[in-house]
Amino acid sequence: MQDAKAGATNLTCPQCETPIDFLDIQRNNLQDIHPNRLFPCPHCPTGFWPENGFLYQLHGDIGEQTYFGSPLSLGGATTGNYTDVKVGHSKEYGQHNLDRGYHIETITIRSAKLADSDEELTPQSLDGAFTRASLGDSVLLTITPTDSVSVAINATLRDGAEEGNPVSTGDQIDVQYRYVKAPTSGKNPPWIDLLREAEHVIRRKNTLAMYPLLVSSMDNFLVRQMLLYYRWQGQTLDDAEATLDSYGGRNGPNRYQIVENVFSDTHSEELTDSCYDGEWEWFCEMNRTRNKIVHPDAESMESVSRDEAIECFNKTLDLMVKIFDFIWFDAEYGK
Ligand SMILES: [Zn+2]
Repeated sequence: MQDAKAGATNLTCPQCETPIDFLDIQRNNLQDIHPNRLFPCPHCPTGFWPENGFLYQLHGDIGEQTYFGSPLSLGGATTGNYTDVKVGHSKEYGQHNLDRGYHIETITIRSAKLADSDEELTPQSLDGAFTRASLGDSVLLTITPTDSVSVAINATLRDGAEEGNPVSTGDQIDVQYRYVKAPTSGKNPPWIDLLREAEHVIRRKNTLAMYPLLVSSMDNFLVRQMLLYYRWQGQTLDDAEATLDSYGGRNGPNRYQIVENVFSDTHSEELTDSCYDGEWEWFCEMNRTRNKIVHPDAESMESVSRDEAIECFNKTLDLMVKIFDFIWFDAEYGK
């Protein structure tokens, strides 16, 4: 079954452009997913930096994606599952063989319906929850990770469900859900872990907390991209760090020094003169909102809806993919 395919991960080899299947990752040593090690491509004789494999996979649909909810951990993948549960019961699923070496990061209910019934019961999300839904007025459905690899699905009849309600205990509900899984022994660079945390706080509706996370993620992303670029040019990690540090003060260059001074040396163009200047301007504006949180004054903060927070998340990751394009492809998109 060497040719078996189970599903693409979020890594694509930038050299041969082949998506990496998660069976490939299971066959390889999972420890190979590490920010400072080249991942050996199973389809060509080269290796690639795992985070660039992640960015390359997003680069194919640059500018057109909504990223929120897609797998962020390097080597992560999305799996859909259909199942059923009887009202008044719960059902637990252990780890499937295909998920060996992976753990569940997030779960989202996609749909639910009453089996063998003409009754149309529309599932409604409860207060924007991703893991709970109400089926009609009478059934509550929840899906919960019981540990890092198993999930439990519960369907319960609401107390006081009205007379003549079409659902009773023991009726079967068909459920479709989706989960994002990540390799357990893989290691992400900080910018990806910060993005993951931004997604988690948005899912919990703690929306203001996403601002410092998204800005820190961008800062680490810019540093990591330049280190990988210098290493691609033949420098050792120590040399690459010294080159980058030479642009800044005691703690290395800040984000503005990177997009202006560093980029104008490596790419003879600043990001602000490229076709991505509008996106960068948006990010600088979002950073001003972030500054009000980390350097508070008497002015009160406006609340941010989850939809607005998801848009900020998507635009930040979109800008990262565009900066990746600028660094490695000389902003070929948009020219
Ligand atoms: Zn390859």
